[in-house]
Amino acid sequence: MHLEYKDMENFKAVIDVHNVSKIYNPDTIPVYAINNVHLHLNEGEFTALVGPSGSGKTTLLNLIGGLDRPDEGNIFIDGEDITKLSGGELIDFRLKNIGFVFQSFNLIPVLTAKENVEFIMLLQNINKQERLKRINQLFKEIGLEDKQESLPSQLSGGQQQRVAVARALASKPKFILADEPTANLDSKSATNLLDVMELLNKEENMTFLFSTHDQRVIDRARRVITLVDGRVEADTAPVSNKH
Ligand code: ADP
Ligand code: MG
Repeated sequence: MHLEYKDMENFKAVIDVHNVSKIYNPDTIPVYAINNVHLHLNEGEFTALVGPSGSGKTTLLNLIGGLDRPDEGNIFIDGEDITKLSGGELIDFRLKNIGFVFQSFNLIPVLTAKENVEFIMLLQNINKQERLKRINQLFKEIGLEDKQESLPSQLSGGQQQRVAVARALASKPKFILADEPTANLDSKSATNLLDVMELLNKEENMTFLFSTHDQRVIDRARRVITLVDGRVEADTAPVSNKH
């Protein structure tokens, strides 16, 4: 099945969403939160997922990230069909391969910024020397070298979200999914966050897929996928920004 699929499709895609649907309330009034979506995302993309509220952005990100399972279709990450994994395998797969950034920062309040970033590496059994090396590099990249020992409550929303990006990157994922990462930020903090994401995309070739409502964020994407009622209505890459 894998080989056959890879032979037929773009095998370089890091994410292949293959005819995926997610249906809520199948027994009463069914809601197609995601309706037969077919997408390929390649390594190094910087892609925005847009669409009105309720169009399925969060649902699609959760499906790709293995936080939720589709009712129909398959999702391949580097050729591996994650819909075939058991619950335990999926948890392990997520930890190793996928970085998440949520709208509401989601840092652990009793841990310092540094400990929040270190935590995921502890789960991966990464040794102390390597952990410290990555922590120092990541805090440099997010421009918060002097905030490692701060608690989340001592940081601004924008700073917390940059720590959340560092945490997402700490496990060296294949890609980062971010669900409306700038929704709770003022415009200066949103610009800073986008600068950090763009830097990581350009310098480390990290693949980003982020949902957003914010036109200024959409303008910085190199590809824009528009969802309406759970379907892909448009998928465009501005000519000047194509790889
Ligand atoms: P978006 O993130 O674009 O606002 P969502 O993915 O949150 O959209 O929602 C897509 C659709 O799925 C909406 O119609 C929403 O009401 C529905 N939906 C989302 N989660 C659930 C759920 N747990 N139970 C029932 N319906 C849901
Ligand atoms: Mg949403």
